Amino acid sequence: MGTNARPAELAAEIATRDRELYAHVNADEQDDMRTRFAEHIIREKRPRLMLVHLFDLDHFQHDYGPLTKEAFAMLEKTDGYVGRILDASARAGTLPETAVFIVSDHGFRPVRKLIHPGAILARAGLIKVSEGKDAKGNARAFVEEWDAWAYLTNGSCSIMLRRGGRSPAKLREVRAALNDFLRREGPVFSVLEAKEVRRRGADPGAALMLEGAEGYGFGGNLTGEALTDNKQRGAHGYLPMTPDYRASLIASGASVARRGDLGTVRMTDIGPTIARALSLSLRDAEGKPLRLR
Ligand SMILES: [Zn+2]
Repeated sequence: MGTNARPAELAAEIATRDRELYAHVNADEQDDMRTRFAEHIIREKRPRLMLVHLFDLDHFQHDYGPLTKEAFAMLEKTDGYVGRILDASARAGTLPETAVFIVSDHGFRPVRKLIHPGAILARAGLIKVSEGKDAKGNARAFVEEWDAWAYLTNGSCSIMLRRGGRSPAKLREVRAALNDFLRREGPVFSVLEAKEVRRRGADPGAALMLEGAEGYGFGGNLTGEALTDNKQRGAHGYLPMTPDYRASLIASGASVARRGDLGTVRMTDIGPTIARALSLSLRDAEGKPLRLR
């Protein structure tokens, strides 16, 4: 990362100038601080491009679930932070020449239960686990050997076969273990074949991919029950076609003359769109700029 992207002393500089910088920070809420950084940088540095990641809403949707009163209250707060950033730009005199893109990187689904594919595979002998203790003396599962592994993205997971051990027979063993679980627990996940996984642009190395049904996500236990209650109430990492799971995009300000609904937009088009607003082009990007005029 270049020196312009992460200037030395910037955090210290802002901390001396803004006594309130860390005043409203706790384990769940840090967006006030992020907004203070943004306000300072706009006022003092007038950047050509600024990216601000506000993510208290993500925490709250994990903890309380999407479309809950807690999530909506946080969304209102986030709206206030965006307002403060725009006000800072107005005070700095840069707002008329600023294009604003509000982009979320994923939707959210409510989740009550966690499926632990590692525990399913371990029970079928496809992962060999020994139980021991970690450095602090807590019980911990250690992986001795594995033929299949679950790579988790919360709402879905990729099932990988060990390189060198990939065979139709091994895949049949994996399928048998998963089907056995589905017979016991009902249709708590769906299975995508490798060809379909590749067609959708997901992990080309996956032997299979699992997608949690409504209310189900994936967890990382290797021992114990393969289906447990979930402490969290919201999850992401589902397939993008999942209903009510779309991310948001709002484009406004300078260079955005178009009004109304942009329809469904590919996420890979957003970077090239922002680049065009800056009179740049991303030569190797897969996506194409959206028409904003
Ligand atoms: Zn998250």
